[in-house]
Amino acid sequence: MKSIPISEIIERLHQETGLSPEMIQDQIKAKVHTLDGLVSEEGAAYIIASELGVQLLKPQSKTRKIGELENGDLGIDAAGKVTRIYSVRTFPRKDGSVGEVASIVISDQTGTARVVFWDKKTQSIKDGKITEGDIIRIKDANVRQNNFGGKEIHLNARSFIAVNPKGLDIKASGRITNKKIISQIIPGENVSVVGTIVKAYPPRFYYACKTCNKKVALTPDGAFCKEHNKTEVEQNMLVSIVLDDGTETIRCVAFRNTAENVCGFTAKEGYEILTKDGENILSARLDEFLLGRQVECIGGAKENKNVAQTEIMLNSVDLNPNPKNIASKLLVEKNG
Ligand SMILES: [Zn+2]
Repeated sequence: MKSIPISEIIERLHQETGLSPEMIQDQIKAKVHTLDGLVSEEGAAYIIASELGVQLLKPQSKTRKIGELENGDLGIDAAGKVTRIYSVRTFPRKDGSVGEVASIVISDQTGTARVVFWDKKTQSIKDGKITEGDIIRIKDANVRQNNFGGKEIHLNARSFIAVNPKGLDIKASGRITNKKIISQIIPGENVSVVGTIVKAYPPRFYYACKTCNKKVALTPDGAFCKEHNKTEVEQNMLVSIVLDDGTETIRCVAFRNTAENVCGFTAKEGYEILTKDGENILSARLDEFLLGRQVECIGGAKENKNVAQTEIMLNSVDLNPNPKNIASKLLVEKNG
């Protein structure tokens, strides 16, 4: 058996667990002590490693750049900045059980990939342990291609995710989001705005193609998508809010998952309230949830030609913005 110098073992444990080298050293000393000096420090380090679940003899795999990942790669390590989080969804399995799936999008300077969490692995998303802007390191996952040619990193039972591990700084590629005050927003740019919700319009409901999410035509023969012909549909929701940051107001429009995040209920739940209790009750519930709330809206600024006004088509909304983002808004105001 090839032996690994103790300094290297400590470094490996530090890298893989995030414990400080001092803490690891203390644990090793304590282990030597409890074993009455029957093991060397090196032997104790191996025991500690095994207790911490770190496999010292397995070669440490290299963290790959997202752009280097290939369809079919197994057991890869990757890292990226979380640019989007989708809500957890359930689906029926062939055996009658209910499956759960969640996904997020990560990005580095070489590319973007969706990370897919199945069943128990969705817990970290449900618990809010991963948020947009976090940097994550994924260990031991598989790469698959999705139906649209994009890359997906699938977590399996062995996969492990570290959130904001020390010493890992990744910049996301893709469109740059500018932190803006509303009066300075220009159509065509991707913006992030912190403001207060001063109005919420009642959500609207529509049926969309399950494959492409576009609106379908409902006929007595079924639902028809322009692209996918006769298709399965799902209930979707659209909601508009008006945001005020003290410089001006702007209308923001959200669809699907983003609309569900804004409303705090799913399209299905919203539609039930609408049909059972009516639009006034639905509106009142939304007003109570949203009015006066300080939020961070991220999306593309677009000119709505019908009303000659700029609107934001939302990609995501943070209902509980990070105090850091509120502070940076104040800085933008001061300097802008
Ligand atoms: Zn379609």
